[in-house]
Amino acid sequence: MHIEEALCKMNNRVIKAKDLSRGLYFSKYKGYLYCKEEECTAKLNFVDGNNRVKFFRTNPSTNHKIGCPSEVNHDENAGETKKKSYENRLNINNKHMNDTLERAFKKFISGSASNGGVFNKKPKYINSIKIKGDNVGGNPELFNDGLDIIGRGPNISTRFFSNLEKNDEGQIRCVIGYVNSMQLMQRHGYINLTPKGQNSVKVHFAEYFVVNNESEFNNMKIIDEYINLMNSIKEPIICCCIGRIKYVKIGINILIDRYQGFALNGMGFRRILAYMNEYKERGELT
Ligand SMILES: [Zn+2]
Repeated sequence: MHIEEALCKMNNRVIKAKDLSRGLYFSKYKGYLYCKEEECTAKLNFVDGNNRVKFFRTNPSTNHKIGCPSEVNHDENAGETKKKSYENRLNINNKHMNDTLERAFKKFISGSASNGGVFNKKPKYINSIKIKGDNVGGNPELFNDGLDIIGRGPNISTRFFSNLEKNDEGQIRCVIGYVNSMQLMQRHGYINLTPKGQNSVKVHFAEYFVVNNESEFNNMKIIDEYINLMNSIKEPIICCCIGRIKYVKIGINILIDRYQGFALNGMGFRRILAYMNEYKERGELT
């Protein structure tokens, strides 16, 4: 899994991970790095891990050729490598996730209020919010890619959606924004925080989410109904979510791993379902 060297297809040179920096990678090499084995087309990502350990990791969307040493290496040492690279990454449990979303929403609301109205633009301090965890010293992780710990868990940094930056790439962030619309497809979906056509920021419910939250994903259309309802009465929808930041061609995706990972106007998934149920029964808003 830890690959030391990559082939840069721009100049056909081999580059060592230890010679790279995040800045250099994002400005020059991102998208051009491949497995250096002949005829292997696997793409590589640069990882500047904890403790300053730098290495390349196989881009999850690509595969090594059959028999590629990098692939073998990955399999043979999977257990140990995994433990090593993940020991500083700690899974966020549901309670910590819940608390974090709740606090982020409350701070955002009160910050906006003191800033001249609840639904005014972004409060100034928003990027300095860090929702306190147990100060256990690790980085937050999702997708069960980290270690489980007892207690509240690691600190999670909060960003307003328009303030996400390149160095948030790959990191777990609590993101706040306003919902524009929702798109639901067969096996994935998006909550759009920006109008269509712009450099988009989207909450992404991808394959992992669908597989691990099957019944909730099937009920996502109710979330869509809620968004449409709020839009129809011109009520703003504040979205708080916790996910992994991923830069894609057309903007930024925030990858969510479970249904507890987002809240709209302070309501989690189940509360929105209950709200919509009640609305349908009464035929009016409560
Ligand atoms: Zn390879």
